[in-house]
Amino acid sequence: MNSADQPQSGPLHVLRDEIRELAGYAVPPSAGFVKLDAMENPYGLPQELKRRIAALVAAAALNRYPDPSAPDLKAALAKEMALPRGIELLLGNGSDEIIQMLALAAARPGAVLLAPEPSFVMYRILARVCGLRYAGVPLAPDFSLDLKAMQAAIDEHRPALIFLAYPNNPTGNLFDEAAMDEMLGAASGLVVVDEAYHPFARKSFVGRLGSRGNLLVMRTLSKLGLAGLRLGMLAGSRELLAEIDKVRLPYNVGVLTQLVAVEVLRHGDVLDAQAAAIRRERSRLAKALAAIDGTTVFESAANFILFRVGQAARVCAGIKARGVLVKSLDGGHPLLADCVRVSVGTPPQNDLFLAALRESL
Ligand SMILES: *Cc1c(COP(=O)(O)O)cnc(C)c1O
Repeated sequence: MNSADQPQSGPLHVLRDEIRELAGYAVPPSAGFVKLDAMENPYGLPQELKRRIAALVAAAALNRYPDPSAPDLKAALAKEMALPRGIELLLGNGSDEIIQMLALAAARPGAVLLAPEPSFVMYRILARVCGLRYAGVPLAPDFSLDLKAMQAAIDEHRPALIFLAYPNNPTGNLFDEAAMDEMLGAASGLVVVDEAYHPFARKSFVGRLGSRGNLLVMRTLSKLGLAGLRLGMLAGSRELLAEIDKVRLPYNVGVLTQLVAVEVLRHGDVLDAQAAAIRRERSRLAKALAAIDGTTVFESAANFILFRVGQAARVCAGIKARGVLVKSLDGGHPLLADCVRVSVGTPPQNDLFLAALRESL
C-alpha cells in the first residue's frame, strides 16, 4: 500500500488493481506437438473448398470496411441454428468477445456475473476485466449443477448475468435440462446458455428463446473447425440484442471472416461429417481410456474427454515429453484434482496420445 503523500510512480500505477492482480490467459507454444489441448477440430478443409476460399479472398474488397450488419452471414447462421421467429443474432470476434460485450453492457456498480465452477475460465476473467463482481458456485462432485447452491447464490447476489456452458468445459457433461429450466425461472437477470460444443452434443436451448425473455444462446464456429477465423454468435430477442449491439465495436467481424464463414456454411455437410467422425472417435477414445488401469473417465458430450489419473501433472509432463499436448487441470479447482482434459483428435493422433499416456503412467 502506498501512503497518500507518497505518490505512485512508473507507468503501471494508472492501471486498475484488478487488472494487475489478474493472471492472463496462457497459451503454451505448440509448434511440433500433436495438439490435443485446445478442443480444435483436427481435420482441415477439402482442397476444392480451399480453392473457392482462395478465390473469394483474392476478390475481397479489403480497402472497404466490412458491413457491420453482415446480412448474408447472419441469414446463413439463422438457418443453420433454426432460430424461432423474432429471434435475432449478434456476431462477435469469437464468442469470447460476446462474453465481453455482455459483461460491459451489464457492468453497473456492484453487478455480479455468476457461473458454476469449474467452468469456462473466460467468464471469471472477463467479469474482472469489465469491472463486474464474479461469483463462482461449485458444481456437485459428479459435475452436475448444485441447484440448492445455485438458488442460494442467485438470492444472495441477484446476478446480472449467469453463464451456463452446455455442455460444460472442462467437465464435458450436459447439465440436467430441468435444472437449467429452474435457473431460467429463478434468475432475475440474463441467463446465457453457452453452446460452444453444440456440434458434438446436438442438444440446445434455442427452442426456448421465443418463450424465455431472459435467455440468450451463444454459439461459435471455433470448435466446429474454424477456430482461426474467430466467429461467435449470440441469439436473443431483438429488443435485448439492440442494446447489447451498442457495445459492439462497429467492425468487429472482418471482411474475410464474413466471406469465408458464408462459403464454409454453404458446404455445411463438410464440417458436419467431421463432427460426426469426432463423435465416433470420442466413444473409441473414452473406451480405450477407461480400459487403462488407474484412470477414471467422465462422460462427455463435447469434443474432448476429461479423465482422472494419479499424479496428473507428472503424467502430463510425460505425455508432453512424447510429443503430445494435453491440458492438466490439476490445481485449477478442487473438483479437478488429478484431472486431465484431452481433445479428440484424428484416429492416429488419439493412438499416439494413448501410447504416450500408457508409457507415462
Ligand atoms: C472454447 C469456448 C468458448 C470460446 O470460443 P471462441 O468462439 O473461440 O471465442 C466459449 N465457451 C466455451 C464453453 C468454450 O469452451
